[in-house]
Amino acid sequence: MKNKVLYVVVPCYNEEEVLEETTKRLKEKLNTLIKSKKISNKSKAMYVNDGSKDNTWELIKKINKKEKLFTGISLSRNRGHQNALLAGLMTAKNYADVVISMDADLQDDINAIDEMIDKYHSGCEIVYGVRSSRKKDTWFKRTTAQVFYKFMKFMGVDVVYNHADYRLTSKRVLDEFENYKEVNLFLRGMFPLVGFKWDVVYYERHERFAGESKYPLKKMLNFAWDGITSFSVRPIRLVLNLGIIIFLVSIIILLYCLIVKLLGKTVTGWTFIVGSIWLVAGIQMLSIGIIGEYIGKIYSETKRRPRYIISENLEELKKG
Ligand code: UDP
Ligand code: MG
Repeated sequence: MKNKVLYVVVPCYNEEEVLEETTKRLKEKLNTLIKSKKISNKSKAMYVNDGSKDNTWELIKKINKKEKLFTGISLSRNRGHQNALLAGLMTAKNYADVVISMDADLQDDINAIDEMIDKYHSGCEIVYGVRSSRKKDTWFKRTTAQVFYKFMKFMGVDVVYNHADYRLTSKRVLDEFENYKEVNLFLRGMFPLVGFKWDVVYYERHERFAGESKYPLKKMLNFAWDGITSFSVRPIRLVLNLGIIIFLVSIIILLYCLIVKLLGKTVTGWTFIVGSIWLVAGIQMLSIGIIGEYIGKIYSETKRRPRYIISENLEELKKG
């Protein structure tokens, strides 16, 4: 099991301020891991330049020239964190046995890597880094993040609570992951779909080492919305449920209108107008919900996600 090649994939968008420090710490970490024979000396860190507008790519090239532990790829333009990360993971898996993804800003505790590798050696194929507390985050970030995870759960999306994209995945998982062809990426929700033995590692989240967050509120909201609409048909179900409720209410209102009419307490036409408003609205909402159900089905079909992944085949074992 020992001496596996590890690649650490780090997406970078305008990160020239932090890259030097990140490189220093990653170098130390990789060297100690190599020395203690936990990973092969072919292991590397791979920077993914996500179409940065500053000197990030030049810096990455410089680091690559100087340090044999560092390599990089560059995207043709800014495609966003999730796409950059995917590009990195899919490239790294060609060279590595196991890949860890982490942010460039050193917010994720780099020391959690040791524990991740240990868990990998004890048989885990995916190890999720989970923030044990968010004391160091700003109040705003902490609160929005918590609302985000709770809301995701409510909307029926299965995510590991407080896990961002700091995660170890084996080559095997990444090979299977390649079959998830969807375009709207929400990686932290997709990896649990792959399955296999997994575990979590807890770590303290630090402040950003330097520079500003590349995830302004607008991007964050987009990301959350992507997560919900890519993983859950619950919003459509809500429309359907609302339709059913309004339809039921309309029957009660119809009865009420009839009673009021029979008691002779209405003006001409009132019963008809009020009754039809409710009935028609109910039927409309119900119809939209039903159409939505079909659209939801079409949506999940178009994703062409793998229907199953075999983890072990005893037939193969015999041969091997
Ligand atoms: N990032 C990226 N492309 C983008 C935005 C961000 O590759 O369009 C990278 C960024 O360089 C960092 C990581 O994604 O390594 C996380 O971004 P950031 O730290 O700004 O997000 P936050 O921690 O504030 O949520
Ligand atoms: Mg960050």
